[in-house]
Amino acid sequence: MEERGYRHHELDALAAYALDALDAPEQASLATHLATCAACRHALSELRLAASLLPYSLCEVEPPAHLRRQILAAARRTLQAPPRE
Ligand SMILES: [Zn+2]
Repeated sequence: MEERGYRHHELDALAAYALDALDAPEQASLATHLATCAACRHALSELRLAASLLPYSLCEVEPPAHLRRQILAAARRTLQAPPRE
């Protein structure tokens, strides 16, 4: 399928790439292609924008009090990484 200059399977791969969901070999292969293909870089930038907006498409729901306590307790038990430089 041809759609705006790139094939459908490439669009699927780009969407997975935008979500950081490809395995390492697929990611490397697509990164190589992106270096030489402006159309795919443009599509990727649009997909990344769409992915960045996904959290805002969800309804906000107040978590049950017990769930909040469990999450905070788990966070206290979890070794925290040092802040990034
Ligand atoms: Zn391309």
